[in-house]
Amino acid sequence: MSEPAATDDKTSSPPPPPAQHKSWADEADDDAEAANETTAPTTAVPSSSSPSLNVDELSIDENKKPPKLLDDPEDSNIQAVTSGDTPYTSAATFEDLNLSAELLRGLYVEMRFQKPSKIQAISLPMILNPPHRDLIAQAHNGSGKTTCFVLGMLSRVDPSVQAPQALCICPTRELAIQNTEVLRKMGKHTGISSECAVPTDSRDSLPIQKREPIKAQVVIGTPGTIKKWISFKKLGVTRLKILVFDEADQMLAEDGFKDDSLRIMKEIEKFNSSCQVLLFSATFNDIVKNFVERTVKKDHNKLFVKKEELSLDAVKQYKVRCPDELSKIEVIKDYIFELGENVGQTIIFVRTRQSAKMLHKSLVDMGYEVTSIQGALDHEERDKIVKEFRDGLTQVLISTDVLARGFDQQQVNLVINYDLPIKHTAEYTREFEPDYEVYLHRVGRAGRFGRKGAVFNLIYDEKDERLMSKIENHFGTRVSEVREKSVEDYKAALKEAGLLQ
Ligand code: ADP
Ligand code: MG
Repeated sequence: MSEPAATDDKTSSPPPPPAQHKSWADEADDDAEAANETTAPTTAVPSSSSPSLNVDELSIDENKKPPKLLDDPEDSNIQAVTSGDTPYTSAATFEDLNLSAELLRGLYVEMRFQKPSKIQAISLPMILNPPHRDLIAQAHNGSGKTTCFVLGMLSRVDPSVQAPQALCICPTRELAIQNTEVLRKMGKHTGISSECAVPTDSRDSLPIQKREPIKAQVVIGTPGTIKKWISFKKLGVTRLKILVFDEADQMLAEDGFKDDSLRIMKEIEKFNSSCQVLLFSATFNDIVKNFVERTVKKDHNKLFVKKEELSLDAVKQYKVRCPDELSKIEVIKDYIFELGENVGQTIIFVRTRQSAKMLHKSLVDMGYEVTSIQGALDHEERDKIVKEFRDGLTQVLISTDVLARGFDQQQVNLVINYDLPIKHTAEYTREFEPDYEVYLHRVGRAGRFGRKGAVFNLIYDEKDERLMSKIENHFGTRVSEVREKSVEDYKAALKEAGLLQ
């Protein structure tokens, strides 16, 4: 039996407009927004005194994948607007940042990084140096934003204080777990403790009231669980020095987690008005941008990228016109899988849970090994599917937008948009509006840190045509067509993307 619906389960958001054509489902998967939260007591790994998930069990055997070191993946402009007269010098090396020897070891030995990426070089001096101003930072997908805020959190913690001093809030459990793993790896030699605040399924854990307050110095989690831990006085906020929102535009969007995020911010402000706030995302649309600038302190710094410069050049985008739903599946298996078999891992994005199930079943029935993830699965199942994909045990993962943002798996070279992401705001007009931000984030699951990648958008009716051309106009890019049954076209596309010889 499932837990009661969550406070951040987006049951109140308007349904998408009725589909004009036959489709497998018309209910988008809402759990891109951590709908997996529950209001029932958070459960714990029973053997542990800690109230949360054992992230270490989920961590990946890194020996299997030696990192390829690339040059700086970004050469486009990040515009900086700094506040006051604090001069900031961009950091050419990690040494320039006055990091502790333990953190440098984490960066070089554990992470195997050589030098800061562009966003790291620019933002880290702003984050790390007094007066520790708030920061709104936009930078490309896969450009290394996590390192910016993880180093920010780790460097601000006073190791002698056993209380939460840094808090990071993320939209999904997958992202909270991933960020916790990065923090533990990067901070391995610092001795700094951390806790991942996401719900677990386990039935026989202590009710929240009976748990010990959190002593971990860094807490990373999803808004529902964090809010609950704070309201039950298990997560103290008085010692917090730094608060991070990853995927901040979604965390502060009206149809995202705005209410939760603001409540948490206010609660912290009550005790601690000087807590540094960092907002990171690859996307900030104009509405959100306006709003976020008003939520942080007046003297904040900001970094922005023009929307036309946001598409990743390293990821080539294609469209395939398919006459019907069935032919979409044929395109996937007979062409994309056939030719793209050895190019790396693939994520197929679908809009609805129902489509995820149906596509999964169809491909499995045809003998393909694929897995799928969506918000209706229980937490352990979700964690298992992600781990198998990260370990390389599965090559193809079907996902709703639950993994559209933040998910970092360097081996993902192919993204297939089984359907295009649409905004939930068109219920009266019947005019479908693409969700530009989600599109960009989906594309950004390939091409991590300058790696190569390709995206195939499967489109099959007038509505899709319009959505596609709106997306092209918005980002000022051209998405080339690959003819549905032309092996040559697919080959040429993969070659152009640098994925085939
Ligand atoms: P973003 O959040 O900006 O989308 P991530 O922080 O997830 O990107 O980083 C993308 C990938 O780049 C990760 O696999 C990360 O380990 C790698 N990466 C980040 N910074 C560096 C660096 N300075 N050198 C090499 N690899 C890096
Ligand atoms: Mg990220």
